Amino acid sequence: MTDSSLAGSTPAISEVDPDLLAAWLAARGEPAYRARQILAGAHRPAITGFGDLTDLPAALRAALESSFRFSTIGASHALVADDGLTAKAVHQLADGQRIESVLMRYPRRQGGQRTTICISSQAGCAVGCPFCATGQAGFARQLGAGEIVDQVLHWHRAPWLALGTDWRPGSGAGHYNIVFMGMGEPLNNTDRVFSAVRLLNDPTRLGVGARHITVSTSGVVPGIERMVDELPQVNLAISLHAPDDGLRDELVPINRKWPIAEVIGAGRRFAERTRRRVSLEYVLIDGVNDSTRLAQRLAALATGWLCHVNLIPLNPTPRSRWSGTPAHGIAAFVAVLRAAGVPVTVRDTRGRQIEAACGQLHAQLAGRELTQVSAVSAFPIGKVSVG
Ligand code: SAH
Ligand code: SF4
Repeated sequence: MTDSSLAGSTPAISEVDPDLLAAWLAARGEPAYRARQILAGAHRPAITGFGDLTDLPAALRAALESSFRFSTIGASHALVADDGLTAKAVHQLADGQRIESVLMRYPRRQGGQRTTICISSQAGCAVGCPFCATGQAGFARQLGAGEIVDQVLHWHRAPWLALGTDWRPGSGAGHYNIVFMGMGEPLNNTDRVFSAVRLLNDPTRLGVGARHITVSTSGVVPGIERMVDELPQVNLAISLHAPDDGLRDELVPINRKWPIAEVIGAGRRFAERTRRRVSLEYVLIDGVNDSTRLAQRLAALATGWLCHVNLIPLNPTPRSRWSGTPAHGIAAFVAVLRAAGVPVTVRDTRGRQIEAACGQLHAQLAGRELTQVSAVSAFPIGKVSVG
């Protein structure tokens, strides 16, 4: 393998095949141990480019620059809210497509800080849920595995996470959880999403354990079946949002293809085969899906198998004709589920100031140039840019 055989593809370091990296090194007369050194270096939290890998010879650093991409993400534009606990970025990719990711930190409790990184799996989404900004914008293209992993690396390398110099490859799991709840339907891009999960798991890279990763789906049944077989350690969340097919046909249009009975059936099989609790996500929309009758029907669907219900107050999109269920309505809905013995949580509404719901910041920034700045040192409320 020569450098020129890579021309035109320029693989990103986040997804480079180990065999390809080994062959590339061999062709340059470099020792094989450099592969591990390069991967370890590229996943160190504080580096901004191959030039920072000062334990490598300068000529090798220069060769890396010309043969590999340090990131598939060009510019990023980040906004911070909740006293710095939530940060959201719009990332611009090589072809100009824009995607979003979010970092949510939860205050330090016993056992340390809990941090979640929410990432996109597609540019846009074809499912078309009417309450979702991504759904309203439509589908653009699939993301590659590297583009998925690079969203995690963006935050891993940013000062927000403040990962110390003692960070080692493979120790990612101790630092953050990853959820596929950004733009896109992950199980409509299954091959690349699964590849990305395996890259994230890789102990020579970030090493985020599968149990720290959650895939959220609108209900792509064949994709759920594949998760059972191929990624049984990854958490599954199903965006249910309605317990009746008529209403779910409207709120989650993919229901016309895989109706509730099939989606719940797939969720149950996942729970039985993996012995892992499935999360049923339910966005509460005022006067649309939050009645006592629907709470009872939801309770019936969530009884008798290993699942829990996660209620999400709607974060209305700018063009939305809907609003979120008010607090007393949420409490009443919760009470019905609890009375039926269904485990239920209510998700906090993180990042309202920064349009943190799926696809919203992207919509707001459409048509505007993204600012590119190399680093950020503080967490002011408002607008910040990071590269
Ligand atoms: N496409 C996948 C994953 C991305 S969406 C899915 O639908 O599950 C992640 C979650 O955000 C889903 O549960 C989705 O319904 C929810 N969501 C989308 N728009 C929202 C909004 N405006 N307010 C609250 N939750 C929203
Ligand atoms: Fe797509 Fe999920 Fe948005 Fe529905 S909620 S349009 S499936 S990203």
